[in-house]
Amino acid sequence: MNSNDIIAALEHRSTPCYYYDLSLLDKTLDLVNEHGTKKGYHIHFALKANHEPKILQRIQKAGLGADCVSGGEVKQAIDCQFDPKHIAFAGVGKSDAEIELGLDEGIFCFNVESLQEMIVINEIAERKNIQAPIALRLNPNVQVNTHKYITTGLHENKFGISDEELLLVLDALPSLSHIQFLGIHFHIGSQITSLEPFVELCHKANQYVEQIEDRGFTIKVLNMGGGFGVNYSDPNAEPIPDLKAFFEVFDTHLNHRKDQEVHFELGRAIIAQAGSLLTRVLYIKERSTKNFAVVDAGMTELIRPALYQATHIIDALSLSDSNAPLVNYDVVGPICESSDTFIQDYPLNKLQRGDVLAIRSAGAYGQVMKSRYNLRPDFPVIYSDELSHPPTDIR
Ligand SMILES: *Cc1c(COP(=O)(O)O)cnc(C)c1O
Repeated sequence: MNSNDIIAALEHRSTPCYYYDLSLLDKTLDLVNEHGTKKGYHIHFALKANHEPKILQRIQKAGLGADCVSGGEVKQAIDCQFDPKHIAFAGVGKSDAEIELGLDEGIFCFNVESLQEMIVINEIAERKNIQAPIALRLNPNVQVNTHKYITTGLHENKFGISDEELLLVLDALPSLSHIQFLGIHFHIGSQITSLEPFVELCHKANQYVEQIEDRGFTIKVLNMGGGFGVNYSDPNAEPIPDLKAFFEVFDTHLNHRKDQEVHFELGRAIIAQAGSLLTRVLYIKERSTKNFAVVDAGMTELIRPALYQATHIIDALSLSDSNAPLVNYDVVGPICESSDTFIQDYPLNKLQRGDVLAIRSAGAYGQVMKSRYNLRPDFPVIYSDELSHPPTDIR
């Protein structure tokens, strides 16, 4: 991140403001292709991590497909030139209108989360006199070491089809004449930084394939989902997660045949490190026990710290006094909630009003979760390719 260029660009933009480093995104996509696509894997980008058109178009051009969890995301993917044949649609509560949209657009696959959903999709497809391609989202009960709000692959989570329900689904499948069964799908959680849960997932997937094919079904698609994590505590040391090691787990442990496609749906691993939230210090509150730096960004621009107790490190991009001694700050936003705190007791060179901070690793699940709470205004976005020609529209 070249902070001088960013500061120069900020002269034409207000803060708070998102900044995206497109060259880091490109490098990450190159590695996804080198270690994943070249091995024959099909990689989809999970739009729910980031749905900025400029980012999606770049990801589409790099050859990835799209993983969507709502009709709005399906539309956005199509608007950004993703081929419907490379769009998967997951989600525990697809509405009838969303199912119709997916069928009308001819998407690649619905990842189905229950027997009842499968019956509804069959009915809607029958009405349209078409076949609905589906994969079963199975809940493999794999324990992952991540925040409880972002585990999804345990029986206690709402997601997926349990082992008991799978038997009922397989019983029902042959009678559902407008369902085209493609295979199975998993997604065990997010921000998973250890490879072990993925090894366990491979073993479980191998068992499911055997169990389901023994019943006379053919599994053509094995969708292993996403969830691979990034290094939030040191984005400079690890700007790109170890994608080579990630895909090698599946090379080694997944027993797929040549005629079976292996799919992935990565979100965070692709875009998290490319985004930063830029903010200015508004006020400093010094107390005997604590110092607060009140900044102009809040949970309305980046809710992860408030929602998941996530830690994003903070860099000072411009300081009034760069030789100032280190002081510990609670960096807090302007929103009327005590949880509107980015980080606590965090050492920064003594700050002054107007200093610019970058809240790092904010590219995934950042801008997409913005809200209008407190009637906050919308904010600008800067892309690294605009730095040499700063736009003149002042927002
Ligand atoms: C959220 C989600 C993903 C992406 O998760 P990341 O942790 O961002 O990689 C993939 N698949 C499904 C079904 C999801 O819901």
